[in-house]
Amino acid sequence: MNDTTPVPPASGLKANDLDAFWMPFTGNRQFKRAPRLFAGAEGMRYVTADGARVLDGTSGLWCVNAGHCRPKIVEAIRRQAGELDFAGTFQMGHPKAFECASRLVNMAPPGFDNVFFTNSGSEAVDTALKIAIAYHRVRGNASKTRLIGRERGYHGSNFGGMSVGGIAANRKLFGGAFIPGVDHLRHTHDLDRNAFSRGQPLYGAELADDLERLVTLHDASTIAAVIVEPVACSAGVLVPPQGYLERLAAICAKHDILLILDEVITAFGRLGAPFAAEYFGIRPDIITAAKGITNGAVPMGAVFVQGKIHDAFMTGPDAAIELYHGYTYSGHPLAAAACIATLDTLQEEGLLTRANELAPYWEEAVHSLKGMPHVIDVRNIGLIGAVEFEPIDGEPGKRAYDRFLEALRLGALVRATGDVIALAPPLIISKAEIDELIGIFTRALTSVR
Ligand code: PLP
Repeated sequence: MNDTTPVPPASGLKANDLDAFWMPFTGNRQFKRAPRLFAGAEGMRYVTADGARVLDGTSGLWCVNAGHCRPKIVEAIRRQAGELDFAGTFQMGHPKAFECASRLVNMAPPGFDNVFFTNSGSEAVDTALKIAIAYHRVRGNASKTRLIGRERGYHGSNFGGMSVGGIAANRKLFGGAFIPGVDHLRHTHDLDRNAFSRGQPLYGAELADDLERLVTLHDASTIAAVIVEPVACSAGVLVPPQGYLERLAAICAKHDILLILDEVITAFGRLGAPFAAEYFGIRPDIITAAKGITNGAVPMGAVFVQGKIHDAFMTGPDAAIELYHGYTYSGHPLAAAACIATLDTLQEEGLLTRANELAPYWEEAVHSLKGMPHVIDVRNIGLIGAVEFEPIDGEPGKRAYDRFLEALRLGALVRATGDVIALAPPLIISKAEIDELIGIFTRALTSVR
């Protein structure tokens, strides 16, 4: 860049300070021409580097479920940093990691007796995929290595997650570098039949039978696991059709294929139940989580496994390492402390189920956007909403991006993904703040081409 780059004077940055950071999932040149910087946050609001207050309509990046800078979480991190900054969990341990794991499995759906810690959703996904393959192997089924994802799925940015993921833009630069032995189910998005559905769409349960097609093609003896998001959020909030997940789970069980539910976004209350598995009444074998696990305050991910999966590894010589896998920061003290304080906050304030109470009001508010210019779909589930726009010819994504910028200018953070704007505010949002968010967004929709 050059020193004419406009940095907000109050940010404390000099113009060239913007150059070094290669920003993720961002048009870097575009951003650095007109940077958007947050400098503070509290509760439902961010404060920009210029001092403007912005209503958070996306829980940061789908992670700040309990709202920003919650005192208990802030204090737990502060205390932990001064008490035990780091202790590894390879061949050693520290109490907070164990306490945290116990707390997590106690609130997880029945049977999820064990948890493996990572530092992100991407690492949780890759860990889950590896555990699934190794699980079959330790049970004597070494040929079950194939992994099945779904078109338009997002499972993070690492090689495993990218390979099972199905968002074309995330894949196209990386040519043949996918892990081998991966196939994909068809996605479930069907505006012809399901546009403007409220909650789960009526049509599409039969798309789960696509798994039978892949089983016929590859044979069940080669397939280790299927991974899907319960609600495909990053691809634009694709809500599963009624009966779809149940059918997918049944086909997995029939063929001894593990079902990995990627709950990096949905875990910790987003749909109105602690986990989406409970919300949809299905029983996956593995659940991946991250984001809301520490309320976004310290990076952490987790892989919940059914006890039978963990126990299958606990054989062989007593001194043997059962799983050659892990991260320096698995169960990091700061993350564990933040997680425990987050669970306290979520539980004390009833936030794990609050989306349930708000859902009808939220649904009405989000669907009031039907009929606005260029809107071709509105969808919702739990405390998630999405508006899809008719793409501009030759400029995919522009319509949503321009509306995201306009909403920000008017005082609300929303998330643009393709031609969709996603909304997922912190679970502490009040009805008045829902009105404010939708009001700002409505104005943004009318004032932009
Ligand atoms: N899986 C899902 C379903 C996600 O939504 C995300 C991130 O949005 C990830 C995995 C990756 O998580 P992270 O960005 O923490 O690596």
